[in-house]
Amino acid sequence: MALIVHKYGGTSMGSTERIRNVAKRVAKWARAGHQMVVVPSAMSGETNRLLGLAKDLSPVQQTPAMLRELDMIACTGEQVSVGLLSLALQSEGMDAVSYNGWQVPVITDSSYTKARIQSIDDARVRADLAAGKVVVITGLQGIDEDKNVTTLGRGGSDTSAVAIAAAMKAAECLIYTDVDGVYTTDPRVVPEARRLHTVSFEEMLEMASLGSKVLQIRSVEFAGKYRVPLRVLSSFTPWDINIDEEAKSGTLITFEEDEKMEQAVVSGIAFNRDEAKVTVMGVPDKPGIAYQILGDVAEANIDVDVIIQNVSHDGKTDFSFTVHRNDFQRTMELLKTKVAPATGAATVLGDPKICKVSIVGIGMRSHVGVASKMFRTLSEEGINIQMITTSEIKTSVVIDEKYMELAVRALHKAFDLDADNSPVAENMS
Ligand code: ADP
Ligand code: ASP
Ligand code: MG
Repeated sequence: MALIVHKYGGTSMGSTERIRNVAKRVAKWARAGHQMVVVPSAMSGETNRLLGLAKDLSPVQQTPAMLRELDMIACTGEQVSVGLLSLALQSEGMDAVSYNGWQVPVITDSSYTKARIQSIDDARVRADLAAGKVVVITGLQGIDEDKNVTTLGRGGSDTSAVAIAAAMKAAECLIYTDVDGVYTTDPRVVPEARRLHTVSFEEMLEMASLGSKVLQIRSVEFAGKYRVPLRVLSSFTPWDINIDEEAKSGTLITFEEDEKMEQAVVSGIAFNRDEAKVTVMGVPDKPGIAYQILGDVAEANIDVDVIIQNVSHDGKTDFSFTVHRNDFQRTMELLKTKVAPATGAATVLGDPKICKVSIVGIGMRSHVGVASKMFRTLSEEGINIQMITTSEIKTSVVIDEKYMELAVRALHKAFDLDADNSPVAENMS
């Protein structure tokens, strides 16, 4: 008997019919003798709907007071889900109980809309499990020390599930979703994408941070820090498939490099359409200038990603960086009204229609020429590279958004990731 955490995403919880299926699957695991904790997301589209309502009433959500209310609104989607799933489990004859994050409690810091989990008190959940109950806990939600409701950000239910698994030392955390594992790239963009049987923790961390939304990055960080066995698999297989087969399906996140396995140079391709580029032109090239520009940006709580400073001409240089697209307007305003006058910059330019495409692979450590192959592939497609950034196991480029799909497909092919017969088509909803 093992303690297992299941997480079900929005599509998997998308209708009462699907919730009934989730309940049947969970009941199967419980009847096989496992102690079950289940973490569902809001029903598909629900979080968007709720945040859309908020946007109608307050289009510019900036102040902490406003962000607090966004969390108050967004977290209700998950409350409905736990109640429905618990009911469905009871209809299956299981003893089930649901909790909001604050009832566990899942304690977070107070950064509304992107709170971080600080601790989880598992006493109540353990008592329920010992009494033979299935425990259903909301994804996404937490509570800060002043008892304000918080959320962990979009995709945060993954993190709730892994954090609960870590706190309870679960034997495994299974992330059930609408594809049957982690693919070489998003199978919705490249139909030839292949499912990976295993992916190393480091690669998964890079892929998640570079835009592969199959796992929220913080869930991967938690899994790494606490060594939580983590698997991504499909919720769309028949609920009554053999449990041993199910337990081996999908993609396992591994923590040790498997020597036996042949290591591909590039394991996956990630892309991110959520960024925007800004350029401060004609700033004096002198010590402290990067700090002068980025210090103000950081103070405004705007995260910066790729940064480039050009060589200087006549003592002046251009400085470009990317920010989240939601922060684009605010960044432009800040640069124009504060940074440009203070630094003596000539112009501020902005381009929200960019995207970042990245190749990821542990094999890049031991191979040369990988980045240049990426650049050659893009040039053969006539795609102009605006910015480049590299680290040990990834290379990212910033390009015009309109070439994103072309770039991803071309790179997928160039790095031999294409499968002849991708199994994904039949799994897509
Ligand atoms: P859930 O609601 O279950 O959390 P998400 O939509 O958050 O599901 O994540 C699953 C989606 O992630 C898939 O439908 C797929 O389009 C997308 N995705 C992006 N990159 C990948 C990848 N490398 N492998 C698999 N899925 C990916
Ligand atoms: N329901 C939330 C969202 O849509 C959390 C999640 O699905 O993980 O972002
Ligand atoms: Mg998700």
